[in-house]
Amino acid sequence: MSDSQRVLVVEDEANIRDLIRTALRFHGFDTCLARTGAEALREARGRRPDLVLLDVMLPDIDGFEVCRRLRAGGDQVPVIFLTARDTPSDTVTGLTLGGDDYVTKPFSIDALVARVRAVLRRTGAAAPPEPDTVLRVADLELDEARWTVRRAGADIELSPTEFKLLAYLMRNAGRVLTRSQILENVWGWDHHGNAQVLETYISYLRRKLDPLGPPLIHTRRGVGYSLRP
Ligand code: CA
Repeated sequence: MSDSQRVLVVEDEANIRDLIRTALRFHGFDTCLARTGAEALREARGRRPDLVLLDVMLPDIDGFEVCRRLRAGGDQVPVIFLTARDTPSDTVTGLTLGGDDYVTKPFSIDALVARVRAVLRRTGAAAPPEPDTVLRVADLELDEARWTVRRAGADIELSPTEFKLLAYLMRNAGRVLTRSQILENVWGWDHHGNAQVLETYISYLRRKLDPLGPPLIHTRRGVGYSLRP
C-alpha cells in the first residue's frame, strides 16, 4: 500500500461515519468526511480522494446522484456505495452509474476495509501506468515513448529502423546478441538470414553515436553485437 491513500467517507449518520473513519485510519488511510451529497461533491473536488465510500441514503441528493454528478464532471475516482437497500435494482443502478462496488449495511468493518483495498488495487491497476520508457546506457538515452535519442545531452536523429535496432540493443545492454536474434527481433522473420542489412544499420548507428563519445556498439566476431560502455 502506498502511503496514505485518501478515502472520502460520505455518510450522514455520525456513529457509522466515525466508525468507518476510525477503522480506515487504523489501517493507514487518510480520511476526509462529508455528511451530505453537496458536501461530498465539494470534498471530492477539493481533496481529490483516491476512493469514495458513498452512502446511498443522504439528506439532500442521494449517493447515486452524487456519483452520477462526479462522473458527469469527469471524475473517475473509484466509488463504493454503502447501501441498506439491498435490492438488485439498486445494485444495478449504482454500478451502471459508475460505482465500482457496493457494501450492504449492516457491514463488518473488516469486510469494508478489505473491499476498499480490493477496489483500490483493481482500479489502481487499471489506471494509466507511467512506466519509465527511457532506456539508459552510459551517457546514451533513448525514450521509447517520445522516440527521442540523446547522447551526452545532444539530440540524435535516427530513422525508424535505426531507432528500433538501438532500442533492442539497449534493452539487452551488456549481452552479446547473435545476428539472427537481432534480425528476428528488429526486422522480423522476413529478413532472417540477411546479415548484410544488419551490418549496414550497425554502421549507420556507429556513425551517429561515435562522434559523441567512446564506442558503445561492440562487434563479437562470428557471433553478433553487444552494446555496453
Ligand atoms: Ca444514510
